[in-house]
Formats: sequence, structure tokens, C-alpha cells
Amino acid sequence: TWEYAPAPESRDIANLKPSYRMFLDGQFVEGGGEPLKSVNPATEEVLAEVSTAAPSDVDKAVKAARRAQDKVWGRMPGAERAKYIYRIARMIAERARELAVLESLDNGKPIRESRDVDVPTASAHFFYHAGWADKLAYAGLGPDPKPLGVAGQVIPWNFPLLMAAWKIAPALACGNTVVLKPAETTPLTALVLAEIIQQADLPPGVVNILPGAGGVGAELVNHAEVDKVAFTGSTEVGKLIQRSVAGTGKKLTLELGGKAANIVFDDAPLDQAVEGIVNGIFFNQGHVCCAGSRLLVQESVAGELLDKLRVRVATLRVGDPLDKNTDVGAINSREQLTRITDLVSAGEQEGAEKWVSPCPLPDKGFFVAPTVFSGVSQAMRIAREEIFGPVLSVLTFRTPDEAIAKANNTPYGLSAGIWTDKGSRILWMADRLRAGVVWANTFNRFDPTAPFGGYQESGFGREGGRAGLEAYLDV
Ligand code: NAD
Repeated sequence: TWEYAPAPESRDIANLKPSYRMFLDGQFVEGGGEPLKSVNPATEEVLAEVSTAAPSDVDKAVKAARRAQDKVWGRMPGAERAKYIYRIARMIAERARELAVLESLDNGKPIRESRDVDVPTASAHFFYHAGWADKLAYAGLGPDPKPLGVAGQVIPWNFPLLMAAWKIAPALACGNTVVLKPAETTPLTALVLAEIIQQADLPPGVVNILPGAGGVGAELVNHAEVDKVAFTGSTEVGKLIQRSVAGTGKKLTLELGGKAANIVFDDAPLDQAVEGIVNGIFFNQGHVCCAGSRLLVQESVAGELLDKLRVRVATLRVGDPLDKNTDVGAINSREQLTRITDLVSAGEQEGAEKWVSPCPLPDKGFFVAPTVFSGVSQAMRIAREEIFGPVLSVLTFRTPDEAIAKANNTPYGLSAGIWTDKGSRILWMADRLRAGVVWANTFNRFDPTAPFGGYQESGFGREGGRAGLEAYLDV
């Protein structure tokens, strides 16, 4: 084991402030709620104190968003809205280093990922949607689609800045205004995005960002003047929200949990598949709704693949998120750490064979070594429940039909992966997999031009691509 000492300059690069205020009607203001402390999960140190919203703040923010939508943003020509959105995209790119370091401090994800995935993809979402703002008549939804009004948006902690971008960019492009609640453990980058939005001169009230716990989210989605609810988070809370907005006429999209199958056939290039499996489950510590958490491998190559996989996983470095050599960073919170270790114990008790990477873990902070369970049967909890951590469950199959049956044996349906040399098999499989995204010979690839979203209990509605616009327009 080794001591983890954060580089002192990282706080400066991240422009970390001792306290952050919420963003309401174009101003940074103190919220009426109990302030929360945002913690660095790699060191357990408090990063900053963050002001949270009281119910009256939610009301003020929704009313500000309503005014801005009625009077300014909803009436502005698309080409004008586009200029603001392009500006946000550019400013994210300009502040990429600051945002990446801040994201890794607040979330625990490796700097390589925040630098190469989270921040550039967030910027790309604004660029992509800016391009739509004056072309909505060509979105195939009718000649003159209209914004819905005020969007109430609630996001999780696994991709804090990126999820904010996924939510805000399409809403703005389509002429809606926004009240967004970031997750309680990761509010910081969303508040820097608020700063960017303020500096980009967006009219006050167009975007409001209100940190707080689940109660603030509930207050927001249930506010009578919210026209559209967009939620990303757990299936459990998604169901609560679906019930609470039923009958109100609000439009709803839900992006919820997953238990994706990553399916490897015996003709797949196995070394390439190993890289895809590693990326599928250890990217972002496995805190990924579309993580390839169930590996389905064809029986004839299962032994060989598992041997290769263990050798590769043993090379992954777990530790300091700010170290560019780190592959697996910190688990976002103690609560999530407990959830992961409970499910790992359940896997052992149910008789799966556990293999844990021998890599050393830091003494402080929330860390889990990459874990691979083999001999997993479909009835086990580790095969059914979303672990949301660096834990892979390996199952086997003999025929493509059996692979499909096992892959679809889940209440979820967000994503899936197929590894094979046969193009025709990719198409045959993709047709039969009940999943919103199917990757072939790759995994966890995201692009703003491609719609993302689930089947079944993974939710409904799409984000990204032309299909993503439907969630923010009326015809
Ligand atoms: P969570 O559902 O507990 O929290 C998500 C957000 O909802 C947080 O901001 C939280 O404060 C808020 N919230 C909690 N209770 C609420 C309520 N009653 N009303 C309104 N808002 C409420 O989920 P989590 O543990 O923070 O996030 C992990 C989950 O998110 C995983 O299940 C993961 O699969 C899912 N996720 C899905 C996607 C996707 O696109 N499908 C993406 C990322 C994460």
C-alpha cells in the first residue's frame, strides 16, 4: 500500500473555491436549504461547501425559467439561440483542464477519462445541439415544432458535467428553459457550467442550477409549472417520479439503470475483446448505467478468454484519480462502496468464484479492486442486480439463441455488446437484443449524433441524435 497525497496545485488548476452558491435567474445566490459538503472520494477530504435549494428556491427558479421561456428564449429565432449554445460549447472546451481536474476531484474518476471523455463529450453535445437550433423544421417532426416550456431535470453523480450537458443542450436548442438539479455528491462542475452560462450572457432564467438532495429533485419534478421532466438515475427513483407525474400532462423521459450483456463468440479476436470487456466494466469504476457488467462468453473459448482477462485486469492501476497512469479511480461515496461490497459478498455466498486483482489500494478513500466472478448463474443477485462498481459477472453460452435468451433475461435493456468476426451475426444478434444501444466489436462509445436510451426498466426516451429532439418538442 502507498500514501495518497493529492498534488496541492490540483486545487488551483480546478479553481476550487471554499464555497459554491446556486444559480438562479442569472445570479449566484445562497439557497435556503441546509448547505451540503462535497467530498473528494479519493481522500475523504471536504472539497467545498455548497448551498442547496429550499422549496421556495425551486419555486423561484421555475418561475424565472417560465418568464425567460415566455418572454425571451421561446421567442428568439433558432439561429440566435444557436449562437449562445455554440458559445457555451467553446467555453467548455476553453476551460477543459479546469473542468477535468475538478470533475476528478469531486467524482473520483481517473483524470484520463474526465480529460478525454467527460469534458470533450460535454462540449460536443453543445456543439451538436447548437447546430439543430435553427433546423428544427427539418427534424422530421412536422414543419413547425414548438418547445415544451420549462424543463425540470435531475441527474446522477456518475458523469456530473456530461449528464448536465446531455440534459441542457437539447432543451436549449429546442427553445425550452431549464431548472436542473445535480446529484448531491457531485455538484461542482455543474456550478462551473452555470458560471460559463452566465459568462456566455444567456438571458437570466434560461438555465437555473439548484443543488440539493433528492427532496429538491422531488420538489422540482412535482412543481405545477414544470412542463417536461427529464431524469437520469436509479430505476427505483425513476419509478417514483413516473408515478408522481402521472396524470399531470407533463412530458417525461427516464434514463435508468442497466445490466448489460457483453457477448463474446468463439470467432472473436480475443485480445481485442479483452480490451472491450475491460473498458466495458472498469471504465469510470463501473459507475456506468450501460456498463458491460455481464460477460457472456461462448463455452468453447471461456477458459482461454478468462485467462487472458485476468492477466490484463491484473495490470490495471487503482488509485489517485489525478494520476494520469490511473486506470480505476475512487468509488464516488461511502454509500456506493457499501452497496458494492454487499453485492460482492452476496456473490460469494451464492457460490460464484471470486477473483480479485492483486493491485494495491490506497489506505484512505473509497476504493474497490477490480473483481471478476466466474461460474455465475442467472439466478444469482450479481447476475440480476446493477452493482454500479468494478465487478464483472461471467456467464457462458453455447449457441447464439442461448446468448440472446440470457442477454434478454433482465428487466433492464439499456445496452449490449457483441464480439464476433461475422458481420451477419452482428445484425442477427442486434435485431434480437432488447437493448437501446448495441455495440459491435467495441463498447462504451458515446457520440452526440447517436441516440442513447433504454428499453423496459432502463427507461424511455432518447438523448442525442435526431431522436433526442423529440423529448423537447411538441408538434
Ligand atoms: P438516484 O436515483 O438515487 O439519484 C439520481 C438523482 O435523483 C440525484 O440527483 C438524486 O438527488 C435525485 N433524487 C433522489 N430521489 C429523488 C426523488 N424522490 N425525486 C426526484 N429526484 C430524486 O441514483 P444514483 O444512485 O445517484 O445514480 C446511479 C443510478 O443512475 C444507477 O442506477 C445508474 O444506472 C443510473 N444512471 C442511468 C443513466 C442512463 O442514462 N440510463 C446514466 C447514468 C446513471
